[in-house]
Amino acid sequence: MKRVGVIGGGQLAWMMAGAAKKLGVELVVQTPSLDDPAVPISAKDNVFAPIHDANATDELAKRSDVITFENEFVDIEALSKLAQQGVCFRPKLEALAPLLDKYHQRCYLRDLGLPVPQFIAIEQEWNTTAEIICTSQFGFPAVLKARRHGYDGQGTFIIQEIEDLKQKLELQTTKRVGSQSNFLLEEFIPFERELAVIAARSVSGEVVTYSVVETQQEEQVCRRVIAPADISLDVTFEIENIAHTLLNSLEAVGVFGIELFLTGGGKVLVNEVAPRTHNSGHFSIDACETSQFEQHLRAVCSMQLGNTTMICPGTVMVNLLGYEISQNDYIIKRQQIEQIPQAHVHWYGKTESRPGRKLGHVTVLLDTQNRSVAMAIARNIEYIWYPNST
Ligand code: ADP
Repeated sequence: MKRVGVIGGGQLAWMMAGAAKKLGVELVVQTPSLDDPAVPISAKDNVFAPIHDANATDELAKRSDVITFENEFVDIEALSKLAQQGVCFRPKLEALAPLLDKYHQRCYLRDLGLPVPQFIAIEQEWNTTAEIICTSQFGFPAVLKARRHGYDGQGTFIIQEIEDLKQKLELQTTKRVGSQSNFLLEEFIPFERELAVIAARSVSGEVVTYSVVETQQEEQVCRRVIAPADISLDVTFEIENIAHTLLNSLEAVGVFGIELFLTGGGKVLVNEVAPRTHNSGHFSIDACETSQFEQHLRAVCSMQLGNTTMICPGTVMVNLLGYEISQNDYIIKRQQIEQIPQAHVHWYGKTESRPGRKLGHVTVLLDTQNRSVAMAIARNIEYIWYPNST
């Protein structure tokens, strides 16, 4: 495999560049805009089109040996026609299909016997089943999610009372979050920690996992990742088993990110699966023998998987999120953060900052697994980065 076509040209594709060079692979991306992060690092014959445009993917296929995804918001039905004509997708479309709709994904995980929060689908604008279930079974708060096209908390709402739920459903139905008005309603999990694991599966069926990490979200958006998570061996083992079961069942090829809840009672529940490289695995670029991006390319190019071991005892990754509308490149702040010992700043080169937009991240390698040390460093980075942080 010499040329990998990537559907999506955002930061996840951009972060494949170093690995592609190392492995002697060329990337060509399908992405809407010339300004997207991965455009400067990929081939000159990129395809400039929205990622759900299957005609554009047909074009991408002519320019590449295999096609992979940095973004899963694709038109599976249209892509299936290309697969029938012999286009090679990795992961294959059948491995993506059960995951793209949050309700279908939940059903798939439950049917596999994996632990998930209780959930129901709401098919219409409003229905009394939702009210009954929410009131009698889930209680409040409950969580309402748009079934498709949610990311970084867009389309996920914590609902405090029945009036809230009615209002949100009516509002979201009018706005049509995503391409349809269907929702998933689920119990609120009063988790003690949120965890995640990156797993990869090769063409020959080998599965490897990275260290389980702790992720910290604010307003449903990932702010920090601490690796490894401070959890028991039993919990680690259970999560590794979940990853193996899932990737084998999907016959996945490539890297998948799995987000989980850990309750106060030590129960693990799967929240969400992403069929691609994931924010919770960015620490692997600087802190592991093989980054998740190299691993993904290895898998989709039929190479042997690399070693996932960490090269330091611990690490903390902090997302640099936009907090204003601006074209500032924040060079002074970035330089200040780079002064922190063992800090590696990754800047995605986006042309515009907007509140909540992921502009970059920083990973700090630690000589300890002490969570308080990791948190203190994260606070320091955020103090430098955000204008009003204390
Ligand atoms: P997205 O696809 O936008 O990332 P998620 O479903 O992962 O949306 O939800 C984002 C965040 O919202 C989670 O990381 C978690 O903090 C919170 N959340 C989601 N579902 C629940 C739930 N059932 N109980 C408690 N918190 C939840």
